[in-house]
Amino acid sequence: MLGFSGSREWVYPQSIDGSFMRLRRWTFAGLHALLLIAPWITVGGHPLLLIDIPARRVFLAGLVFTAADTIFLALLLFFLAFALFFFTSIFGRIWCGYACPQTVFLETWIRPVELWIEGDRVTRKRRDAGGWTFDRVWRKAAKWTVFLAVSAFLAMAMVSLFAGARELWTGQAGPSAYAFVAIFTGVWYLDFVWFREQFCNYLCPYARFQSALTDAESLLVSYDVPRGEPREKGRAAALDGRCIACSKCVVVCPQGIDIRDGFQLECIQCARCIDACTSVMEPLGHETLVRYSSLAADEGRERRVLRPRTVIYGGLLTTLAAAAVVLVLGRIPFEATVNRVPGTLFTMDADGFVRNTYMLKITDKDGGPDQHTFEVTLDGLPEAELVRQSVVLPSLGTRTIPLVVRMPADVGGDRTRSFDVIVSGDGGEIRVPATFNTGASSP
Ligand code: SF4
Ligand code: SF4
Repeated sequence: MLGFSGSREWVYPQSIDGSFMRLRRWTFAGLHALLLIAPWITVGGHPLLLIDIPARRVFLAGLVFTAADTIFLALLLFFLAFALFFFTSIFGRIWCGYACPQTVFLETWIRPVELWIEGDRVTRKRRDAGGWTFDRVWRKAAKWTVFLAVSAFLAMAMVSLFAGARELWTGQAGPSAYAFVAIFTGVWYLDFVWFREQFCNYLCPYARFQSALTDAESLLVSYDVPRGEPREKGRAAALDGRCIACSKCVVVCPQGIDIRDGFQLECIQCARCIDACTSVMEPLGHETLVRYSSLAADEGRERRVLRPRTVIYGGLLTTLAAAAVVLVLGRIPFEATVNRVPGTLFTMDADGFVRNTYMLKITDKDGGPDQHTFEVTLDGLPEAELVRQSVVLPSLGTRTIPLVVRMPADVGGDRTRSFDVIVSGDGGEIRVPATFNTGASSP
């Protein structure tokens, strides 16, 4: 952390193992699989997950969403926001301890590399307190070089979600993709080498407002004061199951805090201190003094999971998920628009027909490997004929073609007649309203 003088106060978290650490490692492995493997998997010829910003397309599990599908983006954003509210209100800062990219990368890559090259907490602290000896220089140089490689690797993995893994890793992505790789590499490198826990303490917006999302019933890591106090070194405390002041819960903390001081905003609820205290108290035949609890439980009240805020957030989440499922199931995998050719209302053909010309734009969103054929028909103009009746598009292709509608001039009727252009494809049909100008004089 930054000290009062503005200098960096390094935190040297000691390595720890335990049931929560193992649970977190499994979670980290799953999240890494999502990041590293998902961009390489294809479904129906397209990536399992790709956010193609320049083309304004998102590929997800075989579905293709375009700019016309902003309703799904809105639903997703609301879903993510309410999921954050819901899970935070029940599980506290579970995101910070188990799923935040900074936590995941620090625990998976950075701390093991640091342990491997520089040794554990005591060795690192002692070496850093001394001068710049050859031993310290080469270890720092080696560590920072590996950190740079890890930063570049993770940056490539992250940008793969936006530029496509194959294109990026084979050097075929655009310059902007590699520029973002360079930016992400720099950001992660700065974080790994220097910033680390300061990000949570000074920059992270979630850390700032999470206290508004939790209440006395939310899960949090806390110290059992009635059982633990008065703390004291020695046999008496060990026999009673009181805190033996070993400081193990403090030295493992990556945020550099003492959980025995009570609830602190810096705590990311990583549960390292629970594993630490368990490793001390269990051999003494006592339960850990640091555990998952809640302010309500610590005050002797029963912890309630079902509360107004969790019911409301849960209800909204379920509604949003149901709406997304209904919309996905009813989704038509193409778009069609019809616009009159600018500057012309109608023309008279030599054979006595009135001609109206439109521009028909069709975009395929099916994402399958084959080309797609779309049939075009009219509804509401029984006397009219269409010059073109089918359009063939490659997968995910877009075509704009002239659509010529002709009708005998002597049919009569209103000057303007409404009708629908019907575009039918494999996944359904779209009706686009249009008007036909008959050329008749106004009454
Ligand atoms: S106090 Fe415990 S749970 Fe909180 S950050 Fe430190 S080690 Fe993690
Ligand atoms: S690890 Fe447990 S016994 Fe040791 S100082 Fe922390 S709370 Fe006390």
